[in-house]
Amino acid sequence: MIIFGTGSSTIQPQKLNTGDCPYCKTENSMWVQGYKKYVHIFWIPFFPIGKKVYTVCEHCKGVFEKKEIQNQKLLQSFEDFKINNVKTPWHHFIGLIILTLLIVFIIIVPIIK
Ligand SMILES: [Zn+2]
Repeated sequence: MIIFGTGSSTIQPQKLNTGDCPYCKTENSMWVQGYKKYVHIFWIPFFPIGKKVYTVCEHCKGVFEKKEIQNQKLLQSFEDFKINNVKTPWHHFIGLIILTLLIVFIIIVPIIK
């Protein structure tokens, strides 16, 4: 029996330098946070399957996805954040790394012998 499913890990929240809240209009109150999803087999992460990133207002706690952002400045800083900070953590690939090592081991070891 193979036990598999999906898990997720949180992306470290970060405050944006610019941008007003689309709802309460508070200046410079926006944070970006989100999570990354991965497929696991026997609770070992194998590969990433997607991410979700959104902005949160520290004043009204409103959550806004990219499509809900009309403010160009906020949209720009959100885009910059996504490009710079949303990297997949290496441990989301640990299953693939183990699998690769195992295959290399199985192929290489009989050759050396
Ligand atoms: Zn707000």
